[in-house]
Amino acid sequence: MKPPNINKLPNFDTISDAAKQLEGHRIRTGVMSSPWINALIGAKLLFKCENQQHIGAFKFRGAYNAISRLSKQQMQAGVIAYSSGNHAQAVARVCQMLKIEATIVMPDNAPIIKRQATESYGARVVEYNPDTESRENITDQINKNDQLSFIPPFNHPHIIAGQGTAALELMGDNPDISKLLAPCGGGGLLSGSALAAKGVNSNCKVVGVEPELADDATQSFHQGKIITIDYPDTIADGTRTLSVGDITFAIIREHVDAMETVSEAMIKEAVRIIFYHLKQVVEPSGALGLAALLEDKVAGKAVAADTIGIIMSGGNIDGQTMSTILAEPSIF
Ligand SMILES: *Cc1c(COP(=O)(O)O)cnc(C)c1O
Repeated sequence: MKPPNINKLPNFDTISDAAKQLEGHRIRTGVMSSPWINALIGAKLLFKCENQQHIGAFKFRGAYNAISRLSKQQMQAGVIAYSSGNHAQAVARVCQMLKIEATIVMPDNAPIIKRQATESYGARVVEYNPDTESRENITDQINKNDQLSFIPPFNHPHIIAGQGTAALELMGDNPDISKLLAPCGGGGLLSGSALAAKGVNSNCKVVGVEPELADDATQSFHQGKIITIDYPDTIADGTRTLSVGDITFAIIREHVDAMETVSEAMIKEAVRIIFYHLKQVVEPSGALGLAALLEDKVAGKAVAADTIGIIMSGGNIDGQTMSTILAEPSIF
């Protein structure tokens, strides 16, 4: 499996370059705030609404930045990716826009709505049984001669640079943001956001947020080496990655100031608060930034920033999960 050409490791310039590549193709998502939430936290919070991005998540940005840079020949041959979540939809949608054939390898127990969404963008979905087969083997079998370009979900310079463009837009419009919170799964979003934020305002503190149940990046951050965890059963399905990548980890170690973890109860509370007070639908992974501030509040930690940026990473939640979360009692 060969990833697309790697010319440079990501830095602030490659993120600016990704922003140019995405101009006219990505949705320039809005930034929202709520007086009620500001009063609760005791700071001005600015939410970057990537739930409003194409396919309902920031992953469109990285996928577009990687796929649109393939050569004509590579585009004609097609691309392949594996994912059961937002990366699958992002690759499928970008390929539909650029008229490229996409093959997505998905576990046969993936939620039916995710499979249908991916197919609705014209991708070919190949199922495998995760109990008996590995997605790497299936992908290699389909791509025997390496004719297809493999698009990884996070550990690639073009993906990281693309993901960083959401924070670049937020920070560019609001350079006074002194703390930026981003969720962390494989670390593509967090590493890109950190490069973007520090490039705009070197004093901005960047914090990565994970569910307590999926704290591999937090462990890795503190131990100085990549830690792999068992499959984590968190409601925040966008962060169920078992470990960060070598490229994302190198950037996180250098540019991220802190990692925080949040409970499942606080993730659901953040989804409710965003629903009632921002009137936005977010998936649990997209609510991690606010959940971290709520945890700080419960712990009695002083708010150490006047203006706080939050990457609200996605909004792909099914109605059943949303209604279950909304039916639970509020904490605040
Ligand atoms: C993929 C994803 C994440 C995590 O991003 P990484 O780059 O894997 O760290 C967070 N939120 C949502 C909605 C996602 O789809």
